Amino acid sequence: MNVFVLNCGSSSLKYQLINMEDEKVAAQGLVEKIGEEISFLKHNTDGDEVVIEENIKDHNQAIEMVLDILQSREHGVIENMDKINVVGHRVVHAGEKFSGSVLITKAVIDALRENIKLAPLHNPANIIGIEVSKKLMPKTPDVGVFDTAFHQSMSAESFLYALPYEWYEENGVRRYGFHGTSHKYVSERGAVILNKDYDKLKIITCHLGNGASMAAIDQGRVVDTSMGLTPLEGLVMGTRPGDLDPGIIPYIMKERDMTIEEVDQALNKASGVLGISGVSNDFRELAEAAEKGNKRAELAVNIFCRRVKKYIGAYIALMGGVDLLIFTAGIGENAVEVRSQILENLEYLGIEIDEVKNNNRGEEIKISSDSSAVDVYVIPTNEELVIAREAKKIVENHIKDVLNDLINENKS
Ligand code: ADP
Repeated sequence: MNVFVLNCGSSSLKYQLINMEDEKVAAQGLVEKIGEEISFLKHNTDGDEVVIEENIKDHNQAIEMVLDILQSREHGVIENMDKINVVGHRVVHAGEKFSGSVLITKAVIDALRENIKLAPLHNPANIIGIEVSKKLMPKTPDVGVFDTAFHQSMSAESFLYALPYEWYEENGVRRYGFHGTSHKYVSERGAVILNKDYDKLKIITCHLGNGASMAAIDQGRVVDTSMGLTPLEGLVMGTRPGDLDPGIIPYIMKERDMTIEEVDQALNKASGVLGISGVSNDFRELAEAAEKGNKRAELAVNIFCRRVKKYIGAYIALMGGVDLLIFTAGIGENAVEVRSQILENLEYLGIEIDEVKNNNRGEEIKISSDSSAVDVYVIPTNEELVIAREAKKIVENHIKDVLNDLINENKS
């Protein structure tokens, strides 16, 4: 079975074609600057990369180009579109509607549309991806895999804000959490590595990328996660502040005479480590600047690490312990010094880092010492593989259901 994994952003898209027999990526690529004068498609197959620059006016044209190149003689990996058995779509926000992946029907698209207000930057592009895919591959099933789904196991004690209850009931204000696909993948992978029962472990996952979030997972269920109604809450991020005194917003709007849009922009694009340092949102550039004596760059990294440490403590308290702590995503997988700083002085909680093992980047590796009571691992995330596995599972279950219905109909 071949799964075409599609992740559509507002002006870009990423894709992979995964052969599920061996879970190998047959082709992958991205299209960027859709709708701009010069857009480009970058397509990779085993050892071969091709870049095509041209004006790609919309997602329809972008996906058409991707499907063409997947079937092309020089750079293709399939003979025709029938070789794509299912399309797995990454969808950011499913609200409270879906706690797992689903086969996409018209009713599902309508439900996703209702959630546009909760993810105005992401859901519209995700929906366009689904619609274009249905148009270009009408016979191929589409499966939606949601960033929010894994966190739907949280109890009201974790997901409810201490705000007027009607805001939840009438406006959907609650914690949803994001990066669910990644938290699910690395936590399940962690249990496999330890050769322990996932349903018996207490796990803390740190997805530290440009967007960053953590999750506390007890017996396979999310107890709490750091992102909230939107991906602004929780950890300090590349350009987002994470936890804030909500009183800052009306205060600064008055002080600096700012509009809602301006504040929203500042919170999404000009805060986080970029806001503090004034240098960059990229931890490689921050490390370089700090090395050269830039105090604000150093401070930004320190504040980032402190926030992660604070959440580790909080999640251990909530779960009554932790067996496994996992780092993933761009910073979590690569920033050796950041991991080291986060884990400093946690020995009294049973967390002891091995600095030699920690001195590795981008690899699946244990970084805790042999005497550490808590296992600490770096596990590279693979959201595309989760989407492909989910898409395969949903389609196979659907086929089973249809067959069972047919058998039952024949019997009656
Ligand atoms: P997202 O998917 O949220 O855009 P990623 O998970 O790709 O983010 O993480 C990107 C971030 O990872 C970069 O902004 C940078 O801060 C960090 N990063 C990537 N590689 C390294 C590295 N070698 N050392 C330190 N930080 C790194």
